[in-house]
Amino acid sequence: MLGGVEAALGLPKGSLTKPFYTRVQLWGAALPTNTPGTPCIFDPHGRAGICGDWLLGSSLESAAISGMTLANHIADYFQSGGARPEEFAIGLNNEFQPLEGHDIGQFPGLESENEINEAQAYQLAS
Ligand SMILES: Cc1cc2nc3c(=O)[nH]c(=O)nc-3n(C[C@H](O)[C@H](O)[C@H](O)COP(=O)(O)OP(=O)(O)OC[C@H]3O[C@@H](n4cnc5c(N)ncnc54)[C@H](O)[C@@H]3O)c2cc1C
Repeated sequence: MLGGVEAALGLPKGSLTKPFYTRVQLWGAALPTNTPGTPCIFDPHGRAGICGDWLLGSSLESAAISGMTLANHIADYFQSGGARPEEFAIGLNNEFQPLEGHDIGQFPGLESENEINEAQAYQLAS
């Protein structure tokens, strides 16, 4: 994670001070269970948009992608002049489907069942 922050900030590799204590905690509650299958919802007639982690998963990454998608979608709608609102309606009539993913969450980097079990074991042991 420090390496990622260094890269994002353009800092030299290994320049950030390493923490003296770290702990991994997976959040296993309040997980979204179903989604309309779209990264955001937009109703041009009602002038309302919805974004949030639950549309894509249950992580900050999902929340960020959903928010950026809605922002881009609204920008595209306004740039179109708003003459064809029906073309920009998204997620309004979709049937909700179960959200695919692991019941412990969808944190990036924990793709396989083994890795999740290891993380759970660590959580219980610590
Ligand atoms: C304990 C915990 C640990 C987590 N750890 C991680 C982690 O390590 N990594 C990770 O990627 N994700 C983690 N998550 C998940 C992450 O926090 C969420 O995925 C993310 O915050 C969702 O962002 P959001 O903007 O979709 O929703 P939220 O952050 O829930 O934002 C919704 C906002 O809407 C406001 N609101 C609600 N109703 C109304 C209303 N009627 N009127 C006005 N405002 C309203 C709320 O007050 C809130 O500010 C964790 C979550 C929890 C609870």
